[in-house]
Amino acid sequence: MELPRCWNCNHQFAWKNLCFRIKSCPSCGESQFLTKESRNRIFVFSPICSILIIAMFILDINNILIACITGILLLSIFTFFPFVYQFTDKEQPFV
Ligand SMILES: [Zn+2]
Repeated sequence: MELPRCWNCNHQFAWKNLCFRIKSCPSCGESQFLTKESRNRIFVFSPICSILIIAMFILDINNILIACITGILLLSIFTFFPFVYQFTDKEQPFV
């Protein structure tokens, strides 16, 4: 897996910058917009996490265990989301 690059100058973004949603390229200053494809991937993943957390409550799993699993989930989202980002020069519509 590789971190995303600037659509204009091919500058590879740092992971720590991507966690806070990059708006423009630090190298060339061009605006960066998420592609529809990468946004869709994020939107598909979010409900899966919510369902998993709700399912754990329904199944009456130990609260400490739920907290641990939720923490791991959030951490993995934070770690892996920057890798699914892809940038383009124009804001793309949601649908
Ligand atoms: Zn750039």
